[in-house]
Amino acid sequence: MKIFRADYVYPINADPIKNGYVAIDDQSKIISVSDQKPPDAEHIPVEKLSGIITPGFINAHCHVELSHLHNKVPKGEGLVQFIKNLQGLRNADPKEIEAAAIKADHDMYENGIVAVGDISNSNVTVPIKAQSKIYYHTFVETFSFTPERADATFEAALQLMEQFKPQACSVTPHAPYSVSKELFRLIKKYCDTHPNKNLISIHNQECEDENKFYRYKLGSFNDLYAYFGIDISYFKPQARNSLQSVVPLLTSKQDILMVHNTCTNLKDIYFIKRFDRRINWCFCPGANLYIEKMLPKVELFIDQGFNLTIGTDSLASNEKLCILSEMGILQENFPTLGLDRLLQWATINGATFLGIDKDKGSLEPGKTPGLNLITGLDGQKITAETKVRRLV
Ligand SMILES: [Zn+2]
Repeated sequence: MKIFRADYVYPINADPIKNGYVAIDDQSKIISVSDQKPPDAEHIPVEKLSGIITPGFINAHCHVELSHLHNKVPKGEGLVQFIKNLQGLRNADPKEIEAAAIKADHDMYENGIVAVGDISNSNVTVPIKAQSKIYYHTFVETFSFTPERADATFEAALQLMEQFKPQACSVTPHAPYSVSKELFRLIKKYCDTHPNKNLISIHNQECEDENKFYRYKLGSFNDLYAYFGIDISYFKPQARNSLQSVVPLLTSKQDILMVHNTCTNLKDIYFIKRFDRRINWCFCPGANLYIEKMLPKVELFIDQGFNLTIGTDSLASNEKLCILSEMGILQENFPTLGLDRLLQWATINGATFLGIDKDKGSLEPGKTPGLNLITGLDGQKITAETKVRRLV
């Protein structure tokens, strides 16, 4: 047994405990969380720590396979240019791709991340995830905006998914602007016939032009299709935002994670509340600032009964893969966000979405959630001095 004591312990499922104790067994499973040392443990020394103890973090959205693109894509050029830049950089040396992915996995572990919802377009991360100390759910991502290619794209994704098994994995659409209705329908049918077995994670409203394209078929996405030589003559303006256009094409039988939501408005949120889909939301503020120099209207999502989570996105669009850093950006830009709330988003909410909340996301006896020590807080405020250290 090991016992830690800190200024505060944040169990997440209960109020913070001042001068709290956390006892764990040799497998890092929680034995007790309390304001006292466990009664049968007088002889066991206590590791006294200054700072707060939290459960391990859940990174709800990442692309480990893009880690080699760290510092390669210019900042602030907007999503369409970002995608063009990315495409030009994809053909790197496989050894370099692999080495960067291994380092990213290691860094996330050191940053106190215990589980990741990770997007994959290739099999490069299969062995890395199999050996990792982090839990991964892989979202095998499909994209094809050409209706005729829907079947082939979907079949290729199912085959790639086979390579990830028996790891947790599912097949998912990339984004409203990169998946045809036909492909959406194939994924929906698969979800509906495999209930609760194919979690969905989709990039949503990352820039205003995504809405502009869906509403009016105007804006920079037209240039993007032309750039890639994709014929979109079949596409009709939908007279509504992208989110409202694609949600009816998604399943009601699985949880769905909407990622980014940078240009999601109040009307979209009311639409979602009326629609029978199991929508969760993920914020990746570091990547939003990197690509679009803007942030989602986070206040709109709060206290609406939604499950809200945090992701890092990839190293192509972020300085580091660190959930604490994302929490810091959110708090800096939305000062009303308290530490309690941000910690919920960073732990139990992500675990709930990934379906691993029985074991991760909160400090409760019987769980193995990982333990993080957060130091350098100014009361409830995350500052430049705030750091995370993994205890177990
Ligand atoms: Zn992403």
